[in-house]
Amino acid sequence: MPHFETEAIRLSSAKSNQREHSSPIYLTSSFTFESAEEARQMFADEVEGNIYSRYSNPNTAELIQKVCAAEGAEDGITTASGMAAMFGSIAALLQQGDHILASRSLFGSTHQLLTKLFPKWGISSTYGDISDIGNWEKLVRPNTKMLFIETPSNPGLEIIDLEWAGQFATAHNLILVVDNCFATPYLQQPAKWGAHIVTHSATKYIDGQGRVLGGLILGHKKLIEEVTFFARHTGPSMSPFNAWILSKSMETLAIRMDRHCSNALAVAKYFQNSKDLEFVKYPFLPSHPQFHLAKKQMKYGGGIVTLTLKGGIYRAQKFIDNLQMISITPNLGDSRSIVTHPATTTHSKLSTEEREKVGITDGLIRISVGLEHQDDIIQDIEMALNKSR
Ligand SMILES: *Cc1c(COP(=O)(O)O)cnc(C)c1O
Repeated sequence: MPHFETEAIRLSSAKSNQREHSSPIYLTSSFTFESAEEARQMFADEVEGNIYSRYSNPNTAELIQKVCAAEGAEDGITTASGMAAMFGSIAALLQQGDHILASRSLFGSTHQLLTKLFPKWGISSTYGDISDIGNWEKLVRPNTKMLFIETPSNPGLEIIDLEWAGQFATAHNLILVVDNCFATPYLQQPAKWGAHIVTHSATKYIDGQGRVLGGLILGHKKLIEEVTFFARHTGPSMSPFNAWILSKSMETLAIRMDRHCSNALAVAKYFQNSKDLEFVKYPFLPSHPQFHLAKKQMKYGGGIVTLTLKGGIYRAQKFIDNLQMISITPNLGDSRSIVTHPATTTHSKLSTEEREKVGITDGLIRISVGLEHQDDIIQDIEMALNKSR
């Protein structure tokens, strides 16, 4: 089988009769039929082909093909955003009365889905702490149908043992869903460890340049059939334009991730003994509590580093205000380095107690380390740290 880089570059939709080298953008809502009979056959699924872009489109098909190859997944769908993927993976596969067991450290909006929205439709959930996986057995109920996890978590960078999760899901007959946004398929392939469904916010590293929103749901063919039915009739479709952008981005995912990871490791190492910081967290630093686990299931440590400043919210905000280059914006996985203060932004809807449980302290800063020269990134952080004293 060709290597990751080669497939991400060479898999493409069939050439049109114009013999183009780069895939064109198929901005069309619907596709024409040769005859009434062909229309009937395609609607009846007797013949394969594009009908309407809410169902499928050559650009979304190309992206799905590439990310499926990267993840080692059988099939998939694209969605308009990462949250549409998180929502769709749960809504399509569960029903009233079902229960979800989830890792506590979840993306902010995923937490809102589980605690505020799904309960409206009779789907309940329980959080497990990853420091206490020995106790998760007790959290499984007779109606538990799904195990939903995120690793590394946002922004706590907690690592969940995917091998353990795969075995746990099998033992309890649960659908294992893994949000693989932080790692990307280049660093980690949850399907290898038994994940039935892998979800992505393609907005982050898959786009990699902060341009478009997108999401993906990938996994076992049978489950994706149900997800596809749900998506066809509820309409969270990805625009062909966004799919074209994201498919182009897949061509450079490996080379970008190599640099994100080496820059992030350089930042983490440089600041790990700083007197201004309580802690520097990065999966591939030996001081990370799950360093060995990260090494086992990830190719490199990813592009996110967290710094815990001494001095709480005041110091954290002063630090951010003194950065000259690094952008203040909620995105991540961009070629430009980005700073976020989770306690007052992405995770401000959580109570102080909820934040504490997932390790989001007042002084925690999340840095999405970009592709600028590592010396310039380090210099910006060092200068802001000095000025925030
Ligand atoms: C950003 C993000 C999402 C949501 O994706 P959108 O594209 O913003 O809708 C979900 N999970 C994780 C881990 C994320 O970082």
